[in-house]
Amino acid sequence: MRDVHVAIIGAGFTGIGAAIRLKEQGITDVVLLERADAPGGTWRDNTYPGCACDVPSRLYSFSFAQNPAWSRKYSGQAEIQRYLCGVADAYGITPHMRFGHALQSARWDDVTQRWHIDTAGGSFAARALLLATGALSDPAWPAIPGRDDFAGPAFHSAQWRHDVPLAGKRVAVIGTGASAIQFVPAIQPQVGALTLFQRTPPWIVPRRDRAVPALAQSLFRAVPGVQSFVRALSYLAHEITFLPFQHRRIRQVTRHVALRHLASQVADPVLRARLTPSYDMGCKRVLVSDDFYPALTKPNVRLETTAIERIVPTGVRTQDGTVHEADVLIFGTGFRPTDPPLAPSVTGRDGRTLADCWRPIFTAYASTTVHGFPNLFVIPGPNAGLGHSSMIYMIESQITHMLAALDHMQRGAVGALEPTLAAQEAWTRDVDARMRRMVWVEGGCASWYLDRSGRNSTLWPGFTFAFRRAVAHFRPEHYRGIPAVSAIA
Ligand code: NAP
Repeated sequence: MRDVHVAIIGAGFTGIGAAIRLKEQGITDVVLLERADAPGGTWRDNTYPGCACDVPSRLYSFSFAQNPAWSRKYSGQAEIQRYLCGVADAYGITPHMRFGHALQSARWDDVTQRWHIDTAGGSFAARALLLATGALSDPAWPAIPGRDDFAGPAFHSAQWRHDVPLAGKRVAVIGTGASAIQFVPAIQPQVGALTLFQRTPPWIVPRRDRAVPALAQSLFRAVPGVQSFVRALSYLAHEITFLPFQHRRIRQVTRHVALRHLASQVADPVLRARLTPSYDMGCKRVLVSDDFYPALTKPNVRLETTAIERIVPTGVRTQDGTVHEADVLIFGTGFRPTDPPLAPSVTGRDGRTLADCWRPIFTAYASTTVHGFPNLFVIPGPNAGLGHSSMIYMIESQITHMLAALDHMQRGAVGALEPTLAAQEAWTRDVDARMRRMVWVEGGCASWYLDRSGRNSTLWPGFTFAFRRAVAHFRPEHYRGIPAVSAIA
């Protein structure tokens, strides 16, 4: 069994960013345990046509590794994946990765003050464990009767079957979320017929993607400060877009922008009515697209809003009894952010798993550490998600918290560190109090932001700088530390 200082589960944005910052802090005995055969996380897995980030690349990148070569305002999946792998190489992180090491179990041992970690590729002991598996790592399959009855190829957008030809085929798509609005316009020109099953229409605002001029790229390369300045402006512009989530009056303005966008792209009043959301804007994730509505106006596309009854071998049957025949079925039905798949496999100090501990409330102190789970960090953690800016900013804030905690341990010869229950409960109360004013809970919609208890355990209810202020500053008084044992097994 190999003994390491920090074991990181997952080699996506968080895992790579954390490994870099750990190295900078002098902690080089780090291993990244990755279930797949390459780094990249969600950007490795989501290869569906049209896949791109809906946050501008200049913001959706590490602050310490800005990329002057982004080709577009909203770069595509392949470019983001290349960036991430390039950063891992440049900072010497790739040799720390162990592929094919899917986590099987992790168990805290009070005697050795170690996490004992079993993976598909071997076992490890680690003084600290970082769960960096992200919120979008495991696809959500809808509980639609007959899901496995479909006779043709059926797949999830996060597991795109590039071996299934779509040209000329009748394609049924379930879902109109962030993924579907990207791949529907990308596949529409080639498919024979596309039936899009919409349960709830999303609010969509203009995207205004554009290529980054070569001149700007050269300037960013020559004078990095210019790129940092542009990034700072972009950061501020995105922070302002948090206001509508909190203030009903400001939402009227953004609602007007979205409705004008819809009206300018969809002339047919019947189609427009079916695409107009009836819930408050921002209650679900606001999407950005310039090509989704136009795709729906094409003659080979039909928007179906009758509820799905079941999936049958030949297609999808709706509640009016119609069978919508299809050759290929694609699920654009999202992920399981409030139900972390690894939670049942991680056992803390008192023998309870994270899943036990997170029932009914999915929470963590500073969104990062959990009472009863010493030396464990969860990044991005509960209530660290965003609807208005870049997750990389949140991830970097949480990494700073983790580094401060590890530093505190090293300086004080602390072997086991966990937040007090009081601190964790106070954090959760504070998040819930801020949440009360937000559109996500008062906006009249069901969304994946809410967990089974109806609590929004996904998003941070504030500006991102407020999150950084609350999280990055380490408060020893909120933690309980146990001295390091002298005899280590
Ligand atoms: P999503 O936003 O959760 O959308 C899932 C869609 O599936 C929704 O339209 C949902 O309808 C529908 N659906 C789920 N179960 C259904 C059922 N039983 N019957 C009919 N429809 C059903 O998922 P996603 O589009 O994959 O995106 C998930 C998240 O991934 C995003 O919000 C975003 O954070 C991230 N993402 C980000 C980017 C990016 O550019 N940064 C791109 C793609 C994805 P309801 O609305 O009625 O529930």
